[in-house]
Amino acid sequence: MRYLIISDLHANLEALDAVLAESAGQYDKAICCGDLVGYGADPNPVCDWVRTNCPLVVRGNHDRASTGMDDLEWFNPVARSAAVWTLEHLSRENGDYIRALPRGPVLIDGFQLFHGSPYDEDEYMIAAAEAGQAFGYMEARLAFFGHTHVQGGFIWNQSRVETILRTSINDASQSMDIDPECAYMLNPGSVGQPRDGDPRAAYCVYDGDTHRVTYHRVVYNVSGAQQKIHAAGLPPILADRLAVGR
Ligand code: ZN
Repeated sequence: MRYLIISDLHANLEALDAVLAESAGQYDKAICCGDLVGYGADPNPVCDWVRTNCPLVVRGNHDRASTGMDDLEWFNPVARSAAVWTLEHLSRENGDYIRALPRGPVLIDGFQLFHGSPYDEDEYMIAAAEAGQAFGYMEARLAFFGHTHVQGGFIWNQSRVETILRTSINDASQSMDIDPECAYMLNPGSVGQPRDGDPRAAYCVYDGDTHRVTYHRVVYNVSGAQQKIHAAGLPPILADRLAVGR
């Protein structure tokens, strides 16, 4: 079984469309690590696609915030105003779907899925030290997560935790074999709002038969997504940051 693993779509339809065009035929099942909505201007089309095509999705913090499940006081003003806008524009059907999404971790076919970390869906695992603690909470040797919008993740090689760097800006993909002696928490990167310095949409494909993970980056219509953000009256910084991937 080959899995398309996507995360942090953030209502960016242009980015999702590019990922789907590029990954077509490369996977059997699509799964999602959360944050379908929030920030971008297309919450309903993005949510419609996930609802129809992803049999397994865990919720993210923006999914909770944008559907009235969370108090917004902990969000910064930009994220808060995007969450309020999304709440006003999300269809009832999509709102109900998002509110019913499971909190990670979820175990599927021998690997785990969560949004932030295995013990807290809102935890940001940015440095190897944070990931080192988190490995102790894993219930499988392999997990996929999101939340940081940074492609890569972490390997525990029995003695230490190492950081996996995102795909080089000069490459479209990089592959890695999963060593059964090690443990992995892998971040496909963000489809809709990359923050690792590369504005290209990010995703990965995991082949469960060959135990190989391939990280991908794909150029998409950034200006189209930006124009929609401006037209929607969302904070302009949400459009600006897409161009730089920060
Ligand atoms: Zn996110």
